[in-house]
Amino acid sequence: MFSYWEQQSFFIYDHIIVGSGITGLSTAIELKAAYPADRILVLERGLIPAGASTRNAGFACMGSVTELLADLETTKERNVVRLFARRKAGLQLLRKRLGDERIGYAENGSYELIDKTAKNALNKIDWLNELLLPVNNKPSFRLANEKINEFGFNKNRTEALIENTCEGELHTGKMMRALVDYALQQGIEIKTGAQVLRYDEGSKSVTVMVHNTLSKDNYLLRCRTLVICTNAFAPELMKAVDVVPGRGQVLVTRPVRGLKFRGIFHMDEGYYYFREVDGRVLIGGGRNTDFEGEKTTAMVVTEAIQSALEDKLTNIVLPGVKYKVDMRWAGIMAFGKNKKPIIKAFSNRVFGAFRMGGMGVALGSEVARLLSELHRERAAD
Ligand SMILES: Cc1cc2nc3c(=O)[nH]c(=O)nc-3n(C[C@H](O)[C@H](O)[C@H](O)COP(=O)(O)OP(=O)(O)OC[C@H]3O[C@@H](n4cnc5c(N)ncnc54)[C@H](O)[C@@H]3O)c2cc1C
Repeated sequence: MFSYWEQQSFFIYDHIIVGSGITGLSTAIELKAAYPADRILVLERGLIPAGASTRNAGFACMGSVTELLADLETTKERNVVRLFARRKAGLQLLRKRLGDERIGYAENGSYELIDKTAKNALNKIDWLNELLLPVNNKPSFRLANEKINEFGFNKNRTEALIENTCEGELHTGKMMRALVDYALQQGIEIKTGAQVLRYDEGSKSVTVMVHNTLSKDNYLLRCRTLVICTNAFAPELMKAVDVVPGRGQVLVTRPVRGLKFRGIFHMDEGYYYFREVDGRVLIGGGRNTDFEGEKTTAMVVTEAIQSALEDKLTNIVLPGVKYKVDMRWAGIMAFGKNKKPIIKAFSNRVFGAFRMGGMGVALGSEVARLLSELHRERAAD
């Protein structure tokens, strides 16, 4: 039972965005800039953003040599380059919008460890640099083998080290905190503990059924347009979308005395990654050891993947170094038949931007910008 006043002033919006990850918040910000007088609401089912955006590794990255080469085996060159360019544009937009200091952005180096099985990739660095030159205006990759020793990696398992000249790292928590604050400053409303159960599209508006996860009440909100930014969870609201969840698992060590490296590191076509953070090592990945098992939205860690991560840490990254694991967690990514994000007008009232893969930190802001362009072209009054 709701009052007349509640229904008049709290239940009607111009645009509702579902999901307060990097894509949802950036989309809300873009729409507010496009329609300053409009009332914009973001609905988030978690008490805080509860998808991948607060659980990732904070790589401000665009792709490693072996990952890009693997993509080129299944995807046309121009599409791989376009996606690379979108990641770059997204990072630039994020940094410009929030400022490097607020998001903890730093360029402490980005590298890829190459083992025996990936040695062929070394012959293709020049070719890849040429392909990406129009995006970066400088060679994106160069060999940095002299640093293998300096960083203390296991030389028997590291044949080469490729430096990526255009990537950085950020503090994921600070970035998302800054994005929430920025959205609030722009006059965007955010409601947490608000799970969208379903929506019904009418000729003049969209009705959105929202479940208050605390009180367990359901509310019916109304908006002119609805934008779904729920990434891996998009199929819960929209049937027949090509989105497959992919769990990502991570662990963080306690501070490691005398840690020899800083920066971000890729391995095995991007399936493993590690970085220094506050003197600790964060390592994640391993989804490729159990693709089927990791196609899940269950946010839990598993023994198999966690021990694969510890194996890499002990035998390649920190050989002979004592470390203790401090934290472990999981987050859910979204994949599909290809790596292209879905940015779509499902009608002139319902829009979606999701399926951000493993590089949504880089892509999120640009995807939101493109979605907002599409919204301006297609949205009904
Ligand atoms: C372990 C891990 C490491 C990663 N590392 C990196 C990295 O280093 N660099 C990088 O670029 N990318 C990385 N990624 C990928 C990146 O985090 C994602 O691509 C990006 O965060 C996706 O953002 P999003 O806003 O689209 O989705 P999400 O952050 O998942 O946001 C979707 C939101 O929708 C909410 N939601 C879902 N359903 C509903 C509903 N029905 N009602 C209301 N709210 C709902 C969820 O709670 C969630 O907050 C990593 C991901 C993981 C899991």
